[in-house]
Amino acid sequence: MSSKYLGKGLNKVEAIVTTSWDDGHILDLKIADLLKELGLKGTFYVVAGYIKAESPGFLGREEVRTLISEGFEVGSHGYTHFKLTSLSLDVAKEELVLSKRILEDELKCKVHGFSYPQGVFNEELMKLTKIVGYEYARTMNRFTTRIEDPFKVGITVHAYPYSFRKNVKAIKFTRKLAALSRWAELGKELFNYVLRWGGVWHLAGHSWEIEYFNLWNELRELLEYVANRDGVHYVTNLEAVKMSLKLTNLSHRELLKYS
Ligand SMILES: [Zn+2]
Repeated sequence: MSSKYLGKGLNKVEAIVTTSWDDGHILDLKIADLLKELGLKGTFYVVAGYIKAESPGFLGREEVRTLISEGFEVGSHGYTHFKLTSLSLDVAKEELVLSKRILEDELKCKVHGFSYPQGVFNEELMKLTKIVGYEYARTMNRFTTRIEDPFKVGITVHAYPYSFRKNVKAIKFTRKLAALSRWAELGKELFNYVLRWGGVWHLAGHSWEIEYFNLWNELRELLEYVANRDGVHYVTNLEAVKMSLKLTNLSHRELLKYS
């Protein structure tokens, strides 16, 4: 456990690193190899309909089972991959329920997490996701380093070559960060931020996007930077959620003790 203390020791700072990968593309296996090599963990959100139909270009059930046996988490990314907000609430519920059930049957494991297709969600969908039995849901909201609501889990950085302007618009941290245009450099700075202040550093992406934009070298460089640090917890999304909730309680208790 890392234990840096800020100021008079009111807040215990813990740094957590997690990664997540959407869509279940066959190139996720290359991501998994890289993560294994560097001692990192993560969650692969797969589309239940693709697994069931054994869609070409996507992971098959055996490959997904192997990922689970290697210590990765597998979550649901819906049944059809449709944006849930484009569906009626009843159909959205079907997506949530059916994808969980099919994945649990096919993979013989419990599915805890959901990743909203295209990162799109609203309050009603957050409630629904909880009601049908998920423990958390991941969004694509960037520049997040804390998990405050398990059904609105944000990410820190998206492995995607955003334009400089788009980054500047979204960043609320510091001017120094806003000056960074490369996603991988931004990822490093935000990791330093998490090391200093605690929280969750969460890299999310799609292996097919990494391939399409030829980001493999940058990805390796960034992951090597965050890997193998003393006191940092390298975990799956589910573990990150559980640890964060525990942390919140812990610091609250500590605050009471010191107040
Ligand atoms: Zn997707």
